[in-house]
Amino acid sequence: MKDIYLGVDELEAKLGGLHTEFGSLKLKIKELLEENQRLRIENQQLRKIFKRETIELTADPATELSEEPADAGHQEHAEAAAGTSLGEGYDNLARLYHEGFHICNVYYGHLRMEGDCLFCLSFLSKP
Ligand SMILES: [Zn+2]
Repeated sequence: MKDIYLGVDELEAKLGGLHTEFGSLKLKIKELLEENQRLRIENQQLRKIFKRETIELTADPATELSEEPADAGHQEHAEAAAGTSLGEGYDNLARLYHEGFHICNVYYGHLRMEGDCLFCLSFLSKP
């Protein structure tokens, strides 16, 4: 009987160790998912900047040829860009939330572990 008890004791210790290992693995996965999301956002923003710079580079010769002052054209570009980026920004945040990440300033960028977040939802429902 003593052997059985020792065996069960040993098994319990092993299970405890496994449980701890699972916990740290879960934490690691969470960190990786969050980092992946951060990198995706960064990549998206870099792509946007790259695209804008490419457009400006290819558009420059045309503005030189046209007779209107270059400044006016640039201003229009800037205003149009600002207008679209506001709507885009909201869409990106909404998508981020539906992919399971916080967009509220309390937990921004962290995985939502327990369903909906009231901070995020109140942020999303703002006009
Ligand atoms: Zn949140």
